[in-house]
Amino acid sequence: MNEYRDEYLYLYNCFSKLLKDSKKLISMSDNVQKKLKESNDRLLIAEEKLVQLSISDDLTGLLNRRGINQWIESELVRFSRSGSPFTLLLMDIDFFKTVNDSYGHRAGDYVLQQISEIISTSIRAQDSVGRWGGEEFLFALPDTDCKGGRKIAEKIRKIVENKKMLYNNIDIRVTVSFGGCCMNKGITLDSCLELADKSLYKSKEEGRNRVNIYEY
Ligand code: GH3
Ligand code: MG
Ligand code: MG
Repeated sequence: MNEYRDEYLYLYNCFSKLLKDSKKLISMSDNVQKKLKESNDRLLIAEEKLVQLSISDDLTGLLNRRGINQWIESELVRFSRSGSPFTLLLMDIDFFKTVNDSYGHRAGDYVLQQISEIISTSIRAQDSVGRWGGEEFLFALPDTDCKGGRKIAEKIRKIVENKKMLYNNIDIRVTVSFGGCCMNKGITLDSCLELADKSLYKSKEEGRNRVNIYEY
């Protein structure tokens, strides 16, 4: 045995070193894996935020035009399967240019935010609303017929009409006009939007601060 003692010691040392190195490598690989998972989690959160940003309106926090379009398209798939009623409403602030001209663009922005808050607290959980353009909003109301759509529009119209919007001690009052269309089987989203737009135009022509829903 003694004659192999040196070789044995040498092998033993080599084996110990290998074991130590291998433990070190395993721990390094665990660290790398942990770091990779952390980066991956951060990427997923960033991606989610980006998606959110791409469908949100900065000023009001509501969906933007792309967001509400996406939402409606996915809801319409369900609508066409179930055949349940579905109503679209377009809402436009009356004489909004006058608000900007009289009190400034920031006051106008404030009014847009106040109105968006009224909208958010007035709709039901299943409804969705987006900023369709400057001072125009699109409501998508699933499981809602013309009568239900008119009720929601009237409710919001009245709240806005009675709302004091205090901006730098100025009491700003505005009204809104609505145009709506109830989706029927066979009608496309574009034609329903066109009919809602025509109904909104009618509300404006009739004197504003009113609701018109297109009925077939
Ligand atoms: P009507 O009753 O016919 O709808 O009249 P209106 O004055 O509301 O309509 P018009 O289309 O003449 O003016 C809309 C105004 O909305 C003009 C534009 O400067 C303003 N606007 C659009 N987007 C914003 C915004 O983000 N902030 C502010 N402050 N104003 C905006
Ligand atoms: Mg307007
Ligand atoms: Mg407008």
